[in-house]
Formats: sequence, C-alpha cells, structure tokens
Amino acid sequence: MKNDSLIHWHSMFMGVALLAAARSKDARKRNGACIVGPDNKISGVGYNGLPRGCDDHDEHYWQDDDSDPLNSRHSYIVHAEQNAILNCTSLPLHGSTIYATQYPCPRCVQSIIQVGIKRVVYLDKKAHQERVNAASEKMLADAGVEIESLQALQPESAEWSAELAQFIETSTTNR
Ligand SMILES: [Zn+2]
Repeated sequence: MKNDSLIHWHSMFMGVALLAAARSKDARKRNGACIVGPDNKISGVGYNGLPRGCDDHDEHYWQDDDSDPLNSRHSYIVHAEQNAILNCTSLPLHGSTIYATQYPCPRCVQSIIQVGIKRVVYLDKKAHQERVNAASEKMLADAGVEIESLQALQPESAEWSAELAQFIETSTTNR
C-alpha cells in the first residue's frame, strides 16, 4: 500500500540542515546547511563550529570581543555553509542548491558562488543585519545565484521547519 503522507523535498532538506544545526556548540547561534544536487541527492551537510583539532572546551575560541580578532569567535568559527561545502561527499557542486537555516553571510556567499551552487534557500533572515545581507544579495545577484526564502517558496515547508526547529530546541540535551 502506498503512503501519501510524505514531507516535501524542501522540508526534508531544511530538516536535515536543522538537524545538523543541533550539533553546533555555538551558544549564540546554531546554524545548519544542506547541499543538494539537481537529482535531489544530498552532497554535503554542515553546521557552524570550530575547525577540526581546535578544542571546543577552550573558552578562548568563544569570546565576544569583536574589536580584537584574537579574542573574537568570528576569527575561529567555520560557518555551516562553508562546512557543508568543505565536507561535501560528491563533486562537482555545479548547479546545486544549498538549504541554509540562516541567510548566508558574504564570506559564505563567496564560497557558494565559487563552487557553482546556483540556488540558495534560507529559513531565517536577521533583520538587524541589513547591510551584511545586502552585501550577500549584491554578490548573489551579480553571480546569477537565485536566493529564496523557504517561506516564499513553500509556506507549508517553512511552517513545518519552524515547528521542527522548535522541537529540536526544546528536546536536545546531549542525546
Ligand atoms: Zn557565513
């Protein structure tokens, strides 16, 4: 017998990005990303975290002094989108879509463009980062990379993803 109660592809891929995000040890913001080929095969998953070998328990890496690069987490954390690209299991990524829990920052956008990803689907966008988002948007537009909010693309998937995010948030304590 056939089961018609499927989740949408968009839900599945954003769901994978959200599950990856639940592995992040970043107390400020946990992000995830999932790269999918034109054939709907997942080729890379990532979350924001320290480079391999850098000790997660070393508080030095998690400091918030943005005026001093040595004491700023921004110097150390590899973003989810970058980790998804760096950890990809199949190449090339040309023509792929990346699902990201957060609107990608300009640094990640540079990598997204350079590996040939053609489409970005994001879940959340931080309104207070308007200028940063505008920088990302400009590069994506010039490079011909499509960017869409999941909300605009598939409202049901966005709603489902928000519920999943909520579930993960309330149910994850080192399980
Ligand atoms: Zn980034």
